[in-house]
Amino acid sequence: MIVTPGRVQLGHSTLPGEDAILLLMKCSYSIDYEVALPPGHPFPMSKYPLLKAQLISEGIIAPADIVAPEPLDVATLELVHTPEYLNKLGHAGLSAKEIRRLGLPWSDALWRRSRYAAAGTLLAARSALQDGLAANLAGGTHHAFADHAEGFCVLNDVAIAVAKLRAEGAIAKAAIIDLDVHQGNGTAAIFEGEEDVFTFSMHGERNYPSVKMRSNLDVPLRDGAGDDEYLGKLEQHLPEVIERSQADIAFYLAGVDVAAGDRYGRLGLTEEGIRKRDRMVIEAVRRRGVPLAIVLAGGYAPTRARTAELHAHVFREAWRYERSEINSRSGAF
Ligand SMILES: [Zn+2]
Repeated sequence: MIVTPGRVQLGHSTLPGEDAILLLMKCSYSIDYEVALPPGHPFPMSKYPLLKAQLISEGIIAPADIVAPEPLDVATLELVHTPEYLNKLGHAGLSAKEIRRLGLPWSDALWRRSRYAAAGTLLAARSALQDGLAANLAGGTHHAFADHAEGFCVLNDVAIAVAKLRAEGAIAKAAIIDLDVHQGNGTAAIFEGEEDVFTFSMHGERNYPSVKMRSNLDVPLRDGAGDDEYLGKLEQHLPEVIERSQADIAFYLAGVDVAAGDRYGRLGLTEEGIRKRDRMVIEAVRRRGVPLAIVLAGGYAPTRARTAELHAHVFREAWRYERSEINSRSGAF
């Protein structure tokens, strides 16, 4: 085992032809992330176990890297969500109109799932503060507002994690880098006017949500934008996000609904484009020494397996980046 300050690497693994170093990248995961949906429902609920299995089979993470969250208590949820809304979720239930806006059938299992997934993001953030980099194998439910659900999102996990860490004094400032193809409207609304939380959203201008909220920095994209256009804009704006936020932690919503052929995406990124995007974000944040918590956000490829495969890229890029940093620090290059 090799030990360097603030980080432990396990000496086993790995990708074919790669050096035998596996980074410790803690990933939050729970079997409760997945709940049954009616046949044919467009939300790819099974992507969570598929992604976990894929990452373990490739040696990107080890079974020992998986950490299980405990569901969040109401006091923590109330740091972001209104008591009236939480009462509906926990007791009174949602109306037919509210369920239509959410886009998922309402059930106790979904309520439980939402609390587990949000807890996974808080746990990932804590791990990131300790280790530099960590992830939740779910999360990024950025359409959840303080007082209502929409767009498959019940609880705003990233907002809750930010609010909780700030309430504890673990961080003062945070950056939210939201590259899901849909605007992070809930997150933007929750933190509007809050100077210490910088919200950045790059999204399809004409895509859902039809009414956009105001992030600290919004970068709209035209329908059909491809790799060059997308990556050019990201490269242009990322330094500003890092500079202006002065963040103690960054959250990356690495939605893969930017991929060409995504059911809800309307953009045209290639797989290589997605990998470059993920690499760009990881490098921009980690080169500054800012802890990074990665969450999945959306992805609606033609199959569940394909969606999980696209989500795996950000983990592959994180693994490669951290490994190259370790190698450069140890003089291997
Ligand atoms: Zn999305």
